[in-house]
Amino acid sequence: MRLFLVLPCYNEQEVLPETAKRLKEKMNALVQNGIIASNSRVLFVNDGSSDTTWEIISSLHEEDPLYQGLCLSRNRGHQNALLAGLMTVRELADVCISMDADLQDDIDAIDGMLEKYRGGADIVYGVRSDRKKDSFFKRFTARRFYKTMRSMGAETVYDHADFRLMSARALAALSEFGEVNLFLRGLVPLVGFRSEIVYYERGERFAGESKYPLGKMLHFATEGITSLSVKPIRLITRLGFLILLVAVAVAIYSLVRYFAGQTVPGWTTIVLSIWGIGGLIMISLGVIGEYIGKIYLETKHRPRYVIESYLKDETDEADLADPAVRG
Ligand code: UDP
Ligand code: MG
Repeated sequence: MRLFLVLPCYNEQEVLPETAKRLKEKMNALVQNGIIASNSRVLFVNDGSSDTTWEIISSLHEEDPLYQGLCLSRNRGHQNALLAGLMTVRELADVCISMDADLQDDIDAIDGMLEKYRGGADIVYGVRSDRKKDSFFKRFTARRFYKTMRSMGAETVYDHADFRLMSARALAALSEFGEVNLFLRGLVPLVGFRSEIVYYERGERFAGESKYPLGKMLHFATEGITSLSVKPIRLITRLGFLILLVAVAVAIYSLVRYFAGQTVPGWTTIVLSIWGIGGLIMISLGVIGEYIGKIYLETKHRPRYVIESYLKDETDEADLADPAVRG
């Protein structure tokens, strides 16, 4: 079984040498125990770093063929860098594991992941067992993030970042998702196949600074919701109905005032039109939005299904080159 580790790196010069060293130890141990093939590799994806990250990756590669490097032409963000790495290795690897370069993901969890893979899982999610080591702020925002995602209709695995194992056919299926707004944590569950969870304790960043300040985090959350769900549009329609309800209440109230003779001329009609028309406009926007949402999802050209296996006559020539074929 040929394993590829894929690590996106953005300005990670402080941690890379240490990460490389620890991964090498882990890979050597796995090879020695006969768990992975000796041609397994570690791929570092340089996401347009402005420091010496790429120089470090290049010299690691010179030093030992275990290390491979992929250099993006500029910074494209964590998700894109990760996808670039995964798609590069997908035809070479039997199985691949993505992880952060800052040693926050526990390297020893790799053993558990591989075990689940051998047990038949195509996707293994690394899920952090607790958030004790996080600051209160990070813990709070993270919780809100997952809650909001769920309520907005985007299916994600709770407390799972991008530390995960994927089999070659899961990668092949993932490659069929043609979207540009990339939110892997939401896409991978859509791929399907048997998936398992491995718990691990997430450490602190070994060195360097987080590349995800609050602004980027908010952007990431918005990206996640809007790329997976058109629920925000439905909220407009609901709001429209709510306002229409208010309009009815206002209508009753203002008619009572009118007949009691407690209004100035014209007030009733104006108040009624404001709320009534407001509600109708909102509903109409929601309806239009509903169609735009459909168009949006269509333009992603996502596969409608992924075939896991086909039990058929021996004689029937398979015209499916790959078991994971788009519909
Ligand atoms: N990363 C990247 N491109 C970016 C930002 C981050 O490739 O534009 C990588 C980074 O090098 C690291 C991983 O994504 O390997 C996670 O980033 P970080 O550790 O800064 O995020 P945090 O753990 O603080 O959420
Ligand atoms: Mg980190």
